[in-house]
Amino acid sequence: MSDGASRDGGRDAAVVGGGIAGAAACLRLAALGRRVLWIAPPLEEGDRPGEQLAPAARALLARLGAAGLLEAPGHRPANRQLSAWGSAQLAERDAIVHLEGPGTVLDRPAFERDLAALARAAEGVERVEAALAGAERGPEGWRLSLAGGEALPPVPFVIDASGRAAVVAAPLSQRFRADRLAALVAFLPQDPESEVAPTRATLIEAVADGWWYASLLADGRLALNYYSDPDLLPREASRDPAVLQGLLAGTASVGRWIDEAGFHLAGPPRLASAGTTWLAPVAGPEAAGGREGAGWAAVGDAAAAFDPLSSHGMTTALWSGIQAAEAADAWLAGDAEPLARYAAAVAEGVVDFLKARSRIYGMERRFAGRTFWQRRAG
Ligand SMILES: Cc1cc2nc3c(=O)[nH]c(=O)nc-3n(C[C@H](O)[C@H](O)[C@H](O)COP(=O)(O)OP(=O)(O)OC[C@H]3O[C@@H](n4cnc5c(N)ncnc54)[C@H](O)[C@@H]3O)c2cc1C
Repeated sequence: MSDGASRDGGRDAAVVGGGIAGAAACLRLAALGRRVLWIAPPLEEGDRPGEQLAPAARALLARLGAAGLLEAPGHRPANRQLSAWGSAQLAERDAIVHLEGPGTVLDRPAFERDLAALARAAEGVERVEAALAGAERGPEGWRLSLAGGEALPPVPFVIDASGRAAVVAAPLSQRFRADRLAALVAFLPQDPESEVAPTRATLIEAVADGWWYASLLADGRLALNYYSDPDLLPREASRDPAVLQGLLAGTASVGRWIDEAGFHLAGPPRLASAGTTWLAPVAGPEAAGGREGAGWAAVGDAAAAFDPLSSHGMTTALWSGIQAAEAADAWLAGDAEPLARYAAAVAEGVVDFLKARSRIYGMERRFAGRTFWQRRAG
């Protein structure tokens, strides 16, 4: 179904949030024959950070009938990663970023747009273009209301895919935080006069107060991110491009590479939260039909948001959207076991991620005395 269809109740589930996790949950629920109300404001126009799609995402997209999206012209294969991590020398160290080899460098806005279009066209999905403002559990299920005040007919299950805000799940759960990593994000055009063909390798460089990431997009611009902690970033870093330029001057490789290829900052960078934070539990209640007949699950960043060093956020969003949709389907049929298994799998994933994070940050010893690295040691 499309926008404007009557919100006549009789829905099996509501999915809150219009990103990758929400689209994946809608597609999987629709494939299982469920009727879904998809509540999300329109996608924001313009660039957004996060373009490295891990190889594992391909199989997940195929499960959603969406593998063809990666063939669109705005995406390109990720060739290789060069890292100055643990040493000033740039070396090919795939394991630092991708544990499973190369993946895809996305045109991220186009990918999200295309995935959302597939989901909203799926039989059984009705999209409501608004933010969720309220969610209350009652005997008849979830009572949801939209920004603007509209109350929706009750639904028995809610999937929270609202990103780090976790608007439904956060009040039901406990939030944990491993760090407060922040990213300065910029997209740099290349000087049209430049005759240098920029490398297609992704570059990672550790520095005293954080690390840099640079990757060429298919449209010829360079995606540049600087990761540090908010209290370690210079003042005005997200307002004045000269501050980022100054930070770049302190790099051994990334800054030189940018200069030589003729890339330039076209404006101030954007500041984004990129810390590792998660909820526990991420789903409930444990008995189907229990706790007033209102089930819930958090997916994607709403469940667990990871430091982008692993480049697995989008893949986790796809995986968790699929898993939670299947668990919701079983829960609605009276079987709560898959929902409990989903919650346990996310909790295990968090533990595994935290171990990998310590190991990877522990590989960089040159800055062991610096606050940024000390916060992540061991
Ligand atoms: C700087 C940076 C770089 C990254 N790089 C990578 C990378 O290279 N590779 C990778 O795989 N991952 C990367 N990530 C992580 C990745 O972007 C996220 O893990 C992914 O976007 C999570 O998708 P999501 O759908 O869960 O959440 P989101 O993309 O945050 O989507 C949440 C949606 O919910 C909507 N919403 C919020 N509140 C409400 C409400 N009240 N009602 C309805 N809707 C609401 C929002 O509008 C939004 O559309 C990066 C993240 C950052 C910050």
